[in-house]
Amino acid sequence: MKKHRVFYFSHAPENVYEIIREEIPDGFELVTLDSDSDEERRTKIADCEVVIVAAKPMAKEFIEAAQKLRLVHHQGVGYHDTVDVEALRKRGIALALTPAGTTIGVAEHTILLTLAVCKRLPFADRELREGRWHIYSLRPYSIELYGRTIGYVGMGRIAREVAFRFKAFGTKGIYYDPYARLPEEEEKELSLHRVGFDELLRMADIVTLHVPATKETYHLIDLKALHKMKRTAILINTSRGSIVDEGALCEALKNGLIAGAGLDVFEVEPFQLRNPLAAMENVVITPHISAGTRDALKAKMKALFENLVRFFNGEEMENQVHLYKNFTNYTNDNEFHE
Ligand code: NAD
Repeated sequence: MKKHRVFYFSHAPENVYEIIREEIPDGFELVTLDSDSDEERRTKIADCEVVIVAAKPMAKEFIEAAQKLRLVHHQGVGYHDTVDVEALRKRGIALALTPAGTTIGVAEHTILLTLAVCKRLPFADRELREGRWHIYSLRPYSIELYGRTIGYVGMGRIAREVAFRFKAFGTKGIYYDPYARLPEEEEKELSLHRVGFDELLRMADIVTLHVPATKETYHLIDLKALHKMKRTAILINTSRGSIVDEGALCEALKNGLIAGAGLDVFEVEPFQLRNPLAAMENVVITPHISAGTRDALKAKMKALFENLVRFFNGEEMENQVHLYKNFTNYTNDNEFHE
């Protein structure tokens, strides 16, 4: 039987392809790139019915080169900046997303960044490897989570999982979300209560961001907001770079308006070495890897190939983006996924 050819559009190491192949059901064949070459992309895509898109943007020229293409399946959900939707619409090609697999990875990463900032982990590790034994020098800066107040900006899937994990550290929680309210029982269970934005900024020891990138959340954390935070507070961002005014954040960190920051996302990605954040000891940075775990990739590929089976069986897919809708509209549920 002829197999459906599925093209993996990003170039990845062979051990990533191996994880993907483990999840492929009968009837499908994965086509991968040998190098990060657009010429190879154009050649290989021509013979494939499905393309899996991740970080590498699928521009119009590739869609035009894909003569047999029937479906683009995003590996995550952030398709606005990675898929030329107009070009798909013109050819009647379907688009689907994969929300499965991100929530736990991001929640765990939020805890990781917070603890790493609290204990200045990268500094301690780097210094020790260079032979410096800082048994006392970090004591004036290191802090514990116990008894502290965590302020969640946004209370969706990820924030809830973060709150569940922080609770085990003996923290208290407050959240700001104008569009969502947890049921009273869940608030109690997670030791959370809902507050206004200013109150959250004033009260929280850790401010952690879990909102989508929208016009409304653009630079939600600006200099004015940073001024309202405690001087001992730490800001954690695992959502989107655009939510924080990075220039203002640098100023706040330099001038002691806040004590530290843990960041997985940036206004410009990939992160540039000339970014002043790179030189700050009270900042921990990671390269947008919150959801980039082996477990998440497996969960995503399982869900994605289940959807491909639905598609080729003529059944309705899950998480299809209905291209006739106004897809930039905030009310589209898909907007909220990674
Ligand atoms: P979600 O849709 O479940 O939750 C988002 C919450 O934000 C909702 O409850 C919504 O009401 C709230 N919200 C919207 N606008 C707001 C505003 N102006 N102020 C306060 N709250 C507001 O989404 P989620 O799955 O929890 O993901 C949150 C975000 O995390 C995603 O949109 C994505 O940008 C980001 N993300 C990042 C990574 C990563 O690798 N770093 C991975 C996955 C998701």
